[in-house]
Amino acid sequence: MSITENVKRLSYEMGFDLVSVSRAEPLERDRLKYQEWKEKGYAAGLQYMIREEPRRWVPQDLLPEARSVITFGVNFFSGIKNVETRRGYGRVARYAWGKDYHEVVRDRLEEWVERLVPVIGRRAKTKILADSSPLLEKAFAYQGGMGFVGKNTLLISRKMGSFLFLSEVLTDLELEPDVSKEDESKDACGACKECLVKCPTNALVAPRQLDARKCISYWTIENKGEIPLDMRPGIGDWIFGCDICQEVCPYNGLAKETLWKELHQDQGAGPHLSLLEILSMKTDEEFKKRFAGSPIMRAKRFGLMRNACIVAGNQKFKEAGPVLEELVKNGDPLLKDHAEWALAAISSS
Ligand code: SF4
Ligand code: SF4
Repeated sequence: MSITENVKRLSYEMGFDLVSVSRAEPLERDRLKYQEWKEKGYAAGLQYMIREEPRRWVPQDLLPEARSVITFGVNFFSGIKNVETRRGYGRVARYAWGKDYHEVVRDRLEEWVERLVPVIGRRAKTKILADSSPLLEKAFAYQGGMGFVGKNTLLISRKMGSFLFLSEVLTDLELEPDVSKEDESKDACGACKECLVKCPTNALVAPRQLDARKCISYWTIENKGEIPLDMRPGIGDWIFGCDICQEVCPYNGLAKETLWKELHQDQGAGPHLSLLEILSMKTDEEFKKRFAGSPIMRAKRFGLMRNACIVAGNQKFKEAGPVLEELVKNGDPLLKDHAEWALAAISSS
């Protein structure tokens, strides 16, 4: 068996769902696409996306000795196809139902690096990237034949769909690269436009062009301040993230239940959060105790409460009236604004 075959065999043995290898070469074409996207203002306030860093497209900027990029795909689909809307509850994007994938995947990759030593007979130089660096990871995954980039901007595996975490190991090993079998003269999505049509806030402004300034995931997770008035109705029931452009994708009909138990809904926040519970949170300690080890931590208590106000308003959830009034009286100014908006939405006909 070649080193590349051994590397892949170890990866599959350790539970990674997809593995591909690319040469660690600069991504010139993708750099230009990324810069065009950024210049249009589509990155909104995503500071980590706005920063101009060669390491986004030059792997050697992250590991000078890098010769290969190994991309790992981890399926996080829980097996639940249809998530119902529940009055009094906000919906959570699927990637955040279980434990924080950054930690779960990094731990497994650290173990992978150790187990690689006896497999190849030496300690390779490696750098683990578990969604923690600005590398253009979809581009490497595409190049290595893991899938194609759909009109919803996500990497789609023809075998497993798009409910995938991507992570990478850069290494000095000279591995045999995989080659994408996609025909670039054809749109892999074909005539389908479901994600563009079903996005409630029209954030997919063109195929493969996401304007984060209109995206529910951006506003409910990344943005730390006020949510603009014109965005609030479109947020609907989403208290953290949004899955619509993935749920409508026919390729996700292929998704199978993940074997990664840490990512299951019983390991974390799950698919729904109670609005009354979130709106009643008084301290950051209470929030941390409830969500430690979950991706929900990223929104912080203020962000999650702000989002809960919007969902309560959109659902006209009258039962939230007393906690919203309490926030108007005693909440910080930004929460007060969102709570007032929710109360007005609840009392409107
Ligand atoms: S995550 Fe939601 S809001 Fe953002 S592009 Fe997809 S469907 Fe639209
Ligand atoms: S919903 Fe249709 S257009 Fe959108 S990514 Fe999936 S296949 Fe492509």
